[in-house]
Amino acid sequence: MATTYFGQYIIRQSEIFFTSELSFALVNLKPVLPGHVLVCPKRIVPRFKDLTKEEVSDLWISAQKISVVIEDHFKGNSVTFAIQDGKEAGQTVEHVHVHIIPRKVKDFENNDEIYAEIEKDRQPRSYDEMEKEANELRPYFENK
Ligand code: AMP
Repeated sequence: MATTYFGQYIIRQSEIFFTSELSFALVNLKPVLPGHVLVCPKRIVPRFKDLTKEEVSDLWISAQKISVVIEDHFKGNSVTFAIQDGKEAGQTVEHVHVHIIPRKVKDFENNDEIYAEIEKDRQPRSYDEMEKEANELRPYFENK
């Protein structure tokens, strides 16, 4: 099986829960909130401007599909989508990725605190926990 990279990181197949022609989605090592996942182009490029029109289209159509599942599965009422595009914007992994984060009433005192939280470093969670979450999400996208 081919090795999958998220930027400089090697990703286990067990962390990936969605693939399309040009994109894939993985569970997060350090989620800001439960259900915080990432969708990336298969081609490893650092900046959004590096993507072809086909990759942009596939990435956002994928993000839309994933957001519907994530909002429902994690019992949210809204979704935050975010791209930190470049180092000065807070990007730490040089591989374009859309953060998809299900949101609930009062998950933060002020809604926009989420952006400061995305910036903070957090403790990594276990691979077992990540694998369990990916296993729960994968069936939503099978045969679709
Ligand atoms: P950014 O700071 O916008 O580049 O976001 C990087 C995201 O990747 C953060 O949400 C991290 O928690 C997440 N992350 C970093 N390393 C890994 C990894 N090995 N597997 C999954 N997610 C990761």
